[in-house]
Amino acid sequence: MPDLYIAGTWRAAAAGERRDIVNPFDAQVFQTVDEAGPADAEAAVLAARAAFDTTGWPRLDAAERADLLRRVAALLQRDKEDIARTETLDTGKTLVESRVDVDDVTAVFEYYAEQVLVEVDRTVDTGRDDVLSRVEHHPVGVCTLIAPWNYPLLQMCWKVAPALAAGNTLVLKPSEVTPLSTVHLVRLLAEAGVPDGVVNLVLGSGAAVGQVLTEHPAVDLVSFTGGLQTGRSILRATAETVKRTTVELGGKNPHVVFADVDLDRAVDAVLTGAFLHSGQVCSAGTRLIVEESVADDLVAGVVDRARRIRFGNGLDEGVESGPLVSAAHREKVEGYVALGRSEGAQLLTGGSRPQDPELARGFFLEATVFDRCDRSMRLVQEETFGPVLTVERFRTEAEAIALGNDTAYGLAGGVQTDDPERGDRVARALRHGTVWINDFGPYVPQAEWGGQRMSGNGRELGPAGLAEYRETQHVWRNT
Ligand code: NAD
Repeated sequence: MPDLYIAGTWRAAAAGERRDIVNPFDAQVFQTVDEAGPADAEAAVLAARAAFDTTGWPRLDAAERADLLRRVAALLQRDKEDIARTETLDTGKTLVESRVDVDDVTAVFEYYAEQVLVEVDRTVDTGRDDVLSRVEHHPVGVCTLIAPWNYPLLQMCWKVAPALAAGNTLVLKPSEVTPLSTVHLVRLLAEAGVPDGVVNLVLGSGAAVGQVLTEHPAVDLVSFTGGLQTGRSILRATAETVKRTTVELGGKNPHVVFADVDLDRAVDAVLTGAFLHSGQVCSAGTRLIVEESVADDLVAGVVDRARRIRFGNGLDEGVESGPLVSAAHREKVEGYVALGRSEGAQLLTGGSRPQDPELARGFFLEATVFDRCDRSMRLVQEETFGPVLTVERFRTEAEAIALGNDTAYGLAGGVQTDDPERGDRVARALRHGTVWINDFGPYVPQAEWGGQRMSGNGRELGPAGLAEYRETQHVWRNT
């Protein structure tokens, strides 16, 4: 079956191009997919435009859209194992993590099925009897939704669910590295009854289809999740036509640990924060900022546990960590390990490919900890997007806050302390979109997610995540 979905039809790429999909565990090609070009992207945009302009979809009753979102949620659960397996083959992450992703996105569709029924239109009191003034909300129009490879299904669904809830028509572009779970998602959307042309799917690289999907005048909104450099070029691309543009970008996320905590618990949080999914998480807590008096003990605990992480095939039971997503990405992260050494950081563990012959073909990299880091190092300032933790030490709360904010990014941060007031105080002082106190990583569909500063603009999830996909219109009627 072809992999592009345009105007309700599955089709092959117009130019006949195909792309190999590689399993990061063994570097083997396990599938090929259609690779779109500009002509396919244009066809998808025009199909979305036609569905928006000529069908009743944008004005469909909210209750009907809610039913549709609930059907999608049920289908995701029906196919949970199949989708999770696909995601693991494609990304290398463990099956346990992939299953969590499917459950999480099911909850996101269910949440927006509820949220779309919340009344947001309002009548304004103008003080005049002869005037009716209403503030109404409408879909924005044609939305290009672009997702990265680290959470392919999850990041795409954070966009698709609210965008459909609001009544838009969509062109989906997953990462060319990990497109398969999105192909499955689109099949489910069609099965759930999304009308032809409302959802369109284009697979391909940014170089091949990005320009059409971001610059085309028929596109009204672009929602992008990915790296900082790509985000900048997307903002430039959409500027000409002044499209509404949301960019969710990277992070260099501080994890502040005070001396009053239970150290074992803090070690758990630091490990999860830094090394879940081999650190390929936008909100990974890759900068450990620890109070001087407990730093040696905490770091020793982290190093000990990092050395015992069980690597393997994400499909196998008991595996704690899979490989990095691709050979090219591992090389990039290895470049940061070399940089850290040359900048004078002290390598405590990791930095190499595991010796186990069973892992030799995969794109594995050991969990890596660098001590004696400081703010002048690029290793501390740039997103490595791999299993690389840096350690900085502090003496006072003010110093901890200053270090935590000493990054151009502002996506997420963590605070470990037994003092609730201090936890709240430090969290408020950290200029990051999400801050966890005595935890690291969880999210819920009801709470907004997004970056401050160079981690992006706009919000996903929560009521604000739906507002991103709605236009506001003031209607003034003089009777
Ligand atoms: P990337 O920027 O390389 O690619 C992201 C997507 O953009 C891909 O689908 C890619 O094909 C597409 N793309 C590339 N060039 C394009 C162009 N010119 N026009 C249109 N589309 C284009 O990012 P990646 O390597 O896939 O993902 C990793 C990055 O994503 C990290 O920086 C990570 O922090 C970030 N991320 C952020 C969040 C968040 O919520 N803020 C979540 C997950 C990942």
